[in-house]
Amino acid sequence: MWYDKGVGTVMKLLATVKPGFTSLSPDRNTVASFDREGRLYAYFKRGVAYRRSLASTVEVRWREGSRRRSRLTPTQAAELFAEAYAVAAQCRPHTDAAVRARLDEEILRWTPERLLGEAERFARVYKPISILPPDQYLSIVLQATEGCTWNRCTFCSFYQGRPFRAKSPEEFAAHAAAVRQFLGKGTLMRRGIFLADGNALALSQSRLESLMDIAAQAFPGEPVFGFIDVYTGERRPVEGWRRLADLGLKRVYIGMETGLDELLHFLNKPGSRDELVRFVSDLKAAALEVGLIVMIGAGGAEYRESHAEATLSAIAQMPLGRGDLVYLSPFIEQPGSMYIARRREAALTPLAEPEIESELKRLAESIRAMGIKAARYDIRESIY
Ligand code: SF4
Repeated sequence: MWYDKGVGTVMKLLATVKPGFTSLSPDRNTVASFDREGRLYAYFKRGVAYRRSLASTVEVRWREGSRRRSRLTPTQAAELFAEAYAVAAQCRPHTDAAVRARLDEEILRWTPERLLGEAERFARVYKPISILPPDQYLSIVLQATEGCTWNRCTFCSFYQGRPFRAKSPEEFAAHAAAVRQFLGKGTLMRRGIFLADGNALALSQSRLESLMDIAAQAFPGEPVFGFIDVYTGERRPVEGWRRLADLGLKRVYIGMETGLDELLHFLNKPGSRDELVRFVSDLKAAALEVGLIVMIGAGGAEYRESHAEATLSAIAQMPLGRGDLVYLSPFIEQPGSMYIARRREAALTPLAEPEIESELKRLAESIRAMGIKAARYDIRESIY
């Protein structure tokens, strides 16, 4: 397949046709990828990566010394969509039958206006998806609950103004059906179900089992993932976790934040290091995978050493192995948060971004030396 750049140069068009997506690359600097409904989901141009969320917001990432990121305005997003679909249309004469079928039946049916209109469809199905673990950006999110059961950690603004609410089985079934319809063939590029919001796995055993059953009927055979905090998670006996594992629960993500109780208390996060170690042992006894999230830079310079030491020693006590992972998340102070007020009262010194990055690297190396996977988790890059 060949693509004429229109300047007399003939270059090879790389087209990827997979069951879950279609990708077109007319030159080495440009790649446009579409889901099986034909919706643009990623566009790459000259070192800048654009990701469209299901609500048609566009996150932009590039490197300029360090990692940079921004979000396009709706007008800029519409321009980008027009450009990406123009690239697809220009590729069409040079494609084979399989790619052309995808273009005609899926991709070229979209206009920038129609794609922007996905924001409204999204809002009819979902409350905003505030946060996901990085390995879950391409999952199918089902909101079993709204908000967080605790909602009082001083640093967290994910669910502010969203009181905790659990969906009834009927409401959840209707939600799962609406998600199914909204995603359409887009489900083909998604793997796993993420049970949102912040603490969906805190629901009672019988409620959770019935919701997981409904999720499995809507999306059969998909593994299930979700967040839980130590405080509520620890109350479920191992046997209960085992039953959830039998129903498809695969990995549980825990906002550990730190292994230092004093800092946990400062952050107003319930639980303790000992409770967390016991809880993780229970989850492992139930054959579940665990994802721990640690905040690098929380507590500032004064807590830097004690936070790192206590966190590493807590992780060393846990029976973690293959399939488990520790996410290291650069700490972001949310403007106007209670954390900032408390940090000022306590006269703590925030770490600068390069300090946080070098701390993150140091902890990642120590965790990997224990044989446990460690990865960076930037909450500013969360996208669904
Ligand atoms: S438990 Fe998690 S979601 Fe809830 S307030 Fe704390 S950090 Fe936020």
